[in-house]
Amino acid sequence: MEIRAAVCRATHVPVGIESIDIDRPLGREVLVRTVATGVCHSDLHVVDGDGRFALDRGIVLGHEGAGIVEAVGDQVTGIRPGDHVVACLSGFCGSCAQCLSGHPNVCVGGAVARGESAPPRLSKKGQGIPSFAGIGSYAERMLLHENSVVKIDDDLPLDRAALVGCGVLTGVGAALRSAGLEAGQTVAVFGCGGVGLSIVQGARIGGARQIIALDRFDGKLEMARRVGATHVVNTSNDDPVEAVRALTGRAGVDHAFEAVGNTTRSAPSVACRPPAWAATASASTSRGTSTSIARGGSCSTRWSPAAAASTISTRRFAR
Ligand SMILES: [Zn+2]
Ligand SMILES: [Zn+2]
Repeated sequence: MEIRAAVCRATHVPVGIESIDIDRPLGREVLVRTVATGVCHSDLHVVDGDGRFALDRGIVLGHEGAGIVEAVGDQVTGIRPGDHVVACLSGFCGSCAQCLSGHPNVCVGGAVARGESAPPRLSKKGQGIPSFAGIGSYAERMLLHENSVVKIDDDLPLDRAALVGCGVLTGVGAALRSAGLEAGQTVAVFGCGGVGLSIVQGARIGGARQIIALDRFDGKLEMARRVGATHVVNTSNDDPVEAVRALTGRAGVDHAFEAVGNTTRSAPSVACRPPAWAATASASTSRGTSTSIARGGSCSTRWSPAAAASTISTRRFAR
C-alpha cells in the first residue's frame, strides 16, 4: 500500500513529504491509520544531527502516535480492526530475561521488529526505510507489532492520547517509578515543557506535598500551576537553587527532576537536593551533551550528586 510520510533524509534539512510503500501486517503485526502524533524533541535530535541514526536511507520520524487499527496479522489475538490504540515505544517480547524480571521497558528480545530476512515494513522502490523507535508516526499509517500498541477506550480523544506515548509516560513514570516518590515528599521540577508538566502531574498523583515548578516562561509556569504545582519560580528572575532552598526552609527537596534535556544545565537540579541524595533526569538529551547520561536515548535517568553526569539507572527506548 502506498502512503504519504514525512521522511528525514539529511540532517539540518526540513523533512519532506514523500509517497512510500507500507507492507501488509504479518504474524503479530497490526496496521494502524495514524490519527494524531506528537512532536517530541527526540525526533528533532535526528534532524539536528544529534541522533544515532545513519541517514543513508532516510528515516520516518515520529514516535508519539495514536490511531485506529485497520488490519491485523493472522497471529494477532488481543487487537482487532477498529480498535483505538496508542503506539508504545517500549514494545516488549514477554519472554526475555528483562521482560521476565518485570522490566519490559528494557526488553532485549527484539521480537517487535521484523527479522533481517523479512521484507521491510516501509520501503521506497524496494529499498527499506527505517522508522524512528520502530514506530514512524509521521506517516499516514504505522505497521507495528501488537506488543507495540496499547488499546484505549474509543471515547478518548486521540490527539491527547498520542502524547501518552512518550512525553506523559516519561514524566509521570519518572515521578512515580524512577524516583521512588512517596506521598508527603517535596519535589522540584526544572523545565515545564511536556515532560516537566507530566512530572508535575505525576508528583501530584503520587501525593507530593510541595511541588516547585521552575522555568523561564511565565506561560509554562501558569500551566504548571493548573496541573498541580504548589509553587512556581521564573528562573529568569530568581536563582533556582536559592529559590528552592528558600521555599523549603533551607532543607532542599526530596526529589529534583531535570526536564530541560540539557546535561550542561543539570547542576541546579542536583544542587537543590540534600547532600548525598540523587536527582532524576527525565528527558532525552542530544548526543552532543549527553556523554554518559543519555546513551541509548534515556527516558528517565537517576544521577548521583557526586558525579552529576554519571548514570545510576537508565530506562531506554526500544528501537
Ligand atoms: Zn519522545
Ligand atoms: Zn523481552
